[in-house]
Amino acid sequence: MNSAPTGLYITADHLLSTSGLIHDAAMIADGDGVILAVGAANTLPRSPDLEHRHYTGLMLPGAVNTHSHAFQILLRGKSDAARDFRDWVDNYMYALALSADSEDLRLGAELAFAEMLRNGITTVGEFFYVHNGPAAPACADLGNENALLTVAAARRCGLRIHLLRTVYDRAARHGQQRFYEPATTAVERTRELALATSDMADVTVGIAPHSLHGASADGIQAAAEYAAETGQPFQIHIAEEEHDLAFARAEYGTTPGRALEKLGVVSDRLVVVHGCWLDTEEIEMLGNARAGCAYNPISNMALGDGITDTEAMVRAGVTIGLGCDGPCANHQVNLWQEARFAEWLQRVDKRRMNVLGPAAADHAETVNYPFEMATSNGGHVLGIPVGKLAPGYWADAVVVDPHDLSLLPHHNLDPAALLNNVVNSMAARGAVRDVIVGGDEVMRDGRLTRIDEAELAARGAAWQFGEA
Ligand SMILES: [Zn+2]
Repeated sequence: MNSAPTGLYITADHLLSTSGLIHDAAMIADGDGVILAVGAANTLPRSPDLEHRHYTGLMLPGAVNTHSHAFQILLRGKSDAARDFRDWVDNYMYALALSADSEDLRLGAELAFAEMLRNGITTVGEFFYVHNGPAAPACADLGNENALLTVAAARRCGLRIHLLRTVYDRAARHGQQRFYEPATTAVERTRELALATSDMADVTVGIAPHSLHGASADGIQAAAEYAAETGQPFQIHIAEEEHDLAFARAEYGTTPGRALEKLGVVSDRLVVVHGCWLDTEEIEMLGNARAGCAYNPISNMALGDGITDTEAMVRAGVTIGLGCDGPCANHQVNLWQEARFAEWLQRVDKRRMNVLGPAAADHAETVNYPFEMATSNGGHVLGIPVGKLAPGYWADAVVVDPHDLSLLPHHNLDPAALLNNVVNSMAARGAVRDVIVGGDEVMRDGRLTRIDEAELAARGAAWQFGEA
């Protein structure tokens, strides 16, 4: 009698492990999709009860998108006429938020998540705050309904999701009614959502006070307490655009980073989102606390926010992961491109080349820092074991074709040249051929296996958003 395989024996022509590039490689995963061993195939015996799959090409850890607001993809084609960040938020993003119903939210999530997989992202940190119903009728309290439909959309596509359920207990502007909950309710519902999804291996739940303007002092502290209790990191938007400085000054009598210090929430669990307008002392303080940053360079560029001093952050000891943020102003949801622009924005700002690699070398052994920002650092920032092909991590991987024109030349598979090309020149849509999440094949030979992409595209094409 044949018995079901108890795990996976995956082989690849080449594989990037934590100790370097392995040719004729093998990776063994257990039945849950957790990596047990990685090495040369001739050193890892294959037991007959493991399912064998071979991949042609170069296997890399999948990219970890630490910060997304998937529904905002529905602003594509509409919001680039905004004058500035404030206009974009008030007249485009809030307009979308007030009108989008459950079907719209589901469509936005599926469009964003499918594009993530196509570009080699295997985990999303979805910073979720559309808790209530649309403005008509009256932003009804929907509890965890919208969060759960977003989780379901990720699972339908085959993407791992870490849902950061947002504390949003300030609502001075009309659009914010869609997001508002009292802080105690938000924390309680985060706990409920974590419990409701606890049997889903591809889903984890964390907490995120939205920002100084979206969460009260009590709300921020309650979220930090929940994070401490569960041993997780928590994210908060901080110092994204210049207006945030005036807000912090008026509300807390100081700068945004110092306001967090005043609230007593600066620790190694804190992950600041953006940080474009943090000063040198604030960055030092974050580094001393071993805090993290979810950095979104393309969104910051698209919205005219500013340039985060990521070189100073890395030197100070802040761990930087990357995110797509609201995939808004027609930019691709592509973490390799975020890694590229994270480095290149520093080149523009500092008028030098190769800025982040040397900054990181002060602290740690690093192969290619921008690549690590897109992968292993992302796992660190989300607090889940993803972003490395190593024992104990989820078997989340992408296979790229090293002969794709955008990856050539690579000097006979020289590892440094390959990684440089993945960050600086790779056209992900053509180069990424296969995607594996928790051992499951969610894209094979450039085609998503879980969802009907043509049907999704038809729904996306027919969708209408009016009078912004
Ligand atoms: Zn954001």
